[in-house]
Amino acid sequence: MKLHILGAARTVTGSMHLLEVDGHKLLLDCGLFQGKREETYAVNQHFSFDPASIDAVVLSHSHIDHSGNLPNLVKQGFRGPIYATDASADLADIMLKDSAHIHEWDVQYVNKKRRKQGLPPMPPLYNMQDALATVPLFRSVWYGQRFEPVPGVGVRLMDAGHILGSSAVVVDVVEDGALKRLWFSGDIGRYDAPILEDPVLPQGADYLLMECTYGDKAHEHIEDAFEELRQVILRTMRRGGKVIIPAFAVGRTQMLTYYLSQAIERGEIPDIPVVIDSPLATNASELYRKHSECFDEETWRFIAEHRNPAIDFENIIYTRSVDESKALNDYHEPMIIISASGMAESGRIQHHLANNIEDGRNTIVIISWQAPDTLGRRLADQERKVRIFGEEYYRKAEVVTIGGLSAHAGQDLLVEYALASKETLKKIIFVHGEEKAYSALRGRLDDHAGLPEIAYPQKGEVFAL
Ligand SMILES: [Zn+2]
Repeated sequence: MKLHILGAARTVTGSMHLLEVDGHKLLLDCGLFQGKREETYAVNQHFSFDPASIDAVVLSHSHIDHSGNLPNLVKQGFRGPIYATDASADLADIMLKDSAHIHEWDVQYVNKKRRKQGLPPMPPLYNMQDALATVPLFRSVWYGQRFEPVPGVGVRLMDAGHILGSSAVVVDVVEDGALKRLWFSGDIGRYDAPILEDPVLPQGADYLLMECTYGDKAHEHIEDAFEELRQVILRTMRRGGKVIIPAFAVGRTQMLTYYLSQAIERGEIPDIPVVIDSPLATNASELYRKHSECFDEETWRFIAEHRNPAIDFENIIYTRSVDESKALNDYHEPMIIISASGMAESGRIQHHLANNIEDGRNTIVIISWQAPDTLGRRLADQERKVRIFGEEYYRKAEVVTIGGLSAHAGQDLLVEYALASKETLKKIIFVHGEEKAYSALRGRLDDHAGLPEIAYPQKGEVFAL
């Protein structure tokens, strides 16, 4: 088999890999590359293969950097099945429609600028029709269920503990009478993360294609990170300010809700409104209720004793309309606003940042990895002057980064993951991580004897496995 690395190579977005087996083509993930607008359009627009020639797609999880280019794949001729867990398929349904909406909206803004420059208008990367044409192609499978997306290739999805429905993709191929196993990690979650099961470690893998987002970071314990967040909330409340959290609508938002719900119930945080200002997050939270089959035992116990942690919560306000969202600007009491997108590049979070960034009483809390050249990265880098909607803002609000709330495995778990099937492993291919992260992880791995071959490929590199 041949493995083509087509995305998330030496960076953290645009996950996409093409597997060729016996004349069949299987795509693992079809994610959006995220970053500077001008660059991303061209990168996402162009596939290095004919989309109509792909037999099937297997999706590791629904995050847009893994699923977000599927409607474009369909727009350009793909008609095969897209395999994913039931929860991932449901989440992808709402996320791809939301993404289509963003692309339609975004291109209007771009075209306004192009008109002024005398340039012809551009079409959106894809539109709602393309997203609607993608959704019926999904085929739901359960964790551990074996299926054959193309003849002679057996695939199973194993729980990755990263977000609801997230999985590692285990590909078994018999070639020349020998079984070869490629284990694609998808995004690896964490031990003891709220709501979800722990990630399943690789077993019997010959080849490991794995992420290394936080290869250079030892996460603090999730409990300590929550304590840090609690202190930030208390400090901001004393100043009479608002806490603004850009968060991925799927995963981080529900984890924060779960924590805040418990903290308020225990009296650790006073009774203040918690606003989830993202229609996507609101819809995703509904799916967290529906797919309780993905929950861990502790969450089941909490539900039995109290309520569904992801969505039922007295102080929580879900805003749906733009008017409700804008009305928050006139509310001057302390509150917590959780809004998407997670890297602050689009969505309602931009309005909240524009409205609150110049007030020193407020705090902006960064809780996830931020791609280079995004507004989120500039905030995380403590820049004083930032542009939002083309206007310059002078930041007075405090910015706090809490790394320990990440949905990704930290360095220790990545090392454990890489070494889990050391007995059988012939090669590890690291993707989905910047060079700094890879180098640090590589340094840790080099302490171990008997390591397999290790690669850190460029985009477009091909491996004969
Ligand atoms: Zn992810």
